[in-house]
Amino acid sequence: MTASTSIYLDNNATTRVAKQCADALVRMLTACYGNPSSKHSLGDAAKSELISARAKLAMLIGATPSELVFTSGGTESIHHAITSVMALAPERRRIVTTTVEHSATLKFLEALEGHGYEVVKIPVDRNGELSLDTVDRSLTDETGLFSCLWANNETGVLFPIEALARIAKERGIWVHCDAVQAVGKLPVDVSLVPVDFLSLSGHKFGAPKGVGALFVRKGVKATALHPGSQERGRRGGTENLPGIVALGVAAELAQQRLQSDIPARIQALTHQLEAGLKAELGSIRINGDKAPRVPGTTSLNLGGMVPAEMVLDKLDRKGIHASAGSACSAAGSAPSHVLIAMGLDENEALSTLRFSLSHETTADQIQIVIDVLPEIVREAMNESQ
Ligand code: PLP
Repeated sequence: MTASTSIYLDNNATTRVAKQCADALVRMLTACYGNPSSKHSLGDAAKSELISARAKLAMLIGATPSELVFTSGGTESIHHAITSVMALAPERRRIVTTTVEHSATLKFLEALEGHGYEVVKIPVDRNGELSLDTVDRSLTDETGLFSCLWANNETGVLFPIEALARIAKERGIWVHCDAVQAVGKLPVDVSLVPVDFLSLSGHKFGAPKGVGALFVRKGVKATALHPGSQERGRRGGTENLPGIVALGVAAELAQQRLQSDIPARIQALTHQLEAGLKAELGSIRINGDKAPRVPGTTSLNLGGMVPAEMVLDKLDRKGIHASAGSACSAAGSAPSHVLIAMGLDENEALSTLRFSLSHETTADQIQIVIDVLPEIVREAMNESQ
């Protein structure tokens, strides 16, 4: 099965690099390869590419270009934001987050617990939703940072980020949003959402892996994780210019998609998938289906009937690529912390599949999944008994 005939439904793990981004990468690697800090014409050309890519990305999220720091991706951006708040409010050692954050946030915060920080993880309900009252009560005078997702990578559940950020800002608390699964998929406008920091990652919307950005609101001081002179002193090291330029192109393409009927089409395909599988498989549930969700993510709970890994393996052999919970936890067989936090038991969590669609997904591909999955589940059930 080749990449062109396979059905790729793991876009929350990573996306295919868009052709226009790949072309930009090659151009930057082979023609415009100067260092943006060099004082000759090739350096100048590289610098204008950097400026142009920054402007394109800023446009996508309603920021001004100087509010963006290019990073190596979502994980670094998140760590950069948290570290910055540690320096901004050194005396306030309580950090409030949620139980369903990505491990990029949770692992970093867990490490801080050993260094005198109190980390409070607010629980979610069965739908993966947060209670604004609970958040409000958790934000005390000792709280320096409130950090939460915009869209959950496993379920697609959206948090009401604008309301959450307002509650925290009214208390004078710094706010970071992990928008890695939101940017490029739904309108993200930092002029409307009062976050101080926002993390994004290129490989989730058509740019290559290893490039991302941190939005830092004007007037907020970001402490460099890697001190140096680039990125206005906020991130040292020669810029990953090919990646950054590709990210700029991906931002432009995402903006065009968001202004088209593509998000509605992805939403319709998600409904087609969920309705088709429910009709065929009766007893399944869609985790988080009562909550608002980002278009394109389906967390399919097979009710503990069969291990997800067995089903995924059979799907893979038919050229259909999906994942179990998050890609990061898929390597091991530990149940997803997100699904457990939503009240699923271990068996249900271990029998959950995640399908994540993109603008490249077609109705025919979805129909193939609806046609083959029920048989695969029945087969796996027989084999696992
Ligand atoms: N946050 C979320 C919600 C994610 O889904 C991911 C990647 O899966 C990350 C952070 C980490 O991003 P990156 O892979 O660019 O480090």
